[in-house]
Amino acid sequence: MNNDHNTKHALVTGVSRGIGRAIAVKLLAEGFSVTGTHSKSAVPDELQQHPRFNAIKADFFNAAEVTDKIGPVLRSDNAPGVLINNAGIAAGFDMLDEDDAGWMAHSAGTMLVNYTIPAMLTRWVLPVWIHRGNGVLINIASRAAYRGDTGEFADYAASKAALTAFTKSVAREYSCHRITAVTIAPGFIETDMASDAIRLYGKDHVMKGLAVPELTQPSDVAEVVSAVAAGRMLHITGTTIHVNGGSYLI
Ligand code: NAP
Repeated sequence: MNNDHNTKHALVTGVSRGIGRAIAVKLLAEGFSVTGTHSKSAVPDELQQHPRFNAIKADFFNAAEVTDKIGPVLRSDNAPGVLINNAGIAAGFDMLDEDDAGWMAHSAGTMLVNYTIPAMLTRWVLPVWIHRGNGVLINIASRAAYRGDTGEFADYAASKAALTAFTKSVAREYSCHRITAVTIAPGFIETDMASDAIRLYGKDHVMKGLAVPELTQPSDVAEVVSAVAAGRMLHITGTTIHVNGGSYLI
């Protein structure tokens, strides 16, 4: 196995838009090769045309498709040395209005995309990393895991808390193999996911309470991700890095 090559190869989920796109752009600029996943949206040209980028189309609601398309990459002896679970959904939902069947379906969908599939991808690559004696896992959770969210996004918050606890368990069990497992918890980031809130309440309102005088951008998250992805931070394993413009400090 070629470790040097593998440590500079990252699989990033959800590169078609927002934070994932910014992470892929940053890692390519840092000399990484990037395998990026997307689902409904096209991969932007700046990634698609890059010689060190390749794309995989897989919908996380379709576990069989994820297994077929992403499984072989992560289970291979030549698997990427860095896995960044970024793809996620935040679908608002009134948990008191829905009947039980509606709530079960919504909750299961959110957990599948935001927790179960990211954990599955991790399961696939861990044996390869253990054999190699290195690997970096970065899971993109959310401020919602720490501060909770509105009732509408309670499922979302719970799914991100699950991902955070999973990351800690990976760290506790596998960092003895020099595997770094870190959660990144973005605050409010200016992407499509956040656009509804900005439209509804206005930028000034969503900026209230930030210590810094601007909204956090996807590139601010990408900066932190690339520092961890470089693989020189084994001793922060299991921790969460909050990227939220000082909106809450823990
Ligand atoms: P975004 O702009 O909505 O982009 C989401 C990405 O996830 C897209 O690339 C999308 O791919 C992919 N994705 C969505 N559903 C998918 C599915 N069913 N299967 C496969 N891929 C899917 O979101 P973002 O703001 O960049 O968020 C990225 C991550 O940061 C998410 O995990 C989110 O929870 C977290 N986060 C965001 C914020 C924020 O304020 N923006 C705050 C805290 C945490 P397609 O478009 O190709 O389907």
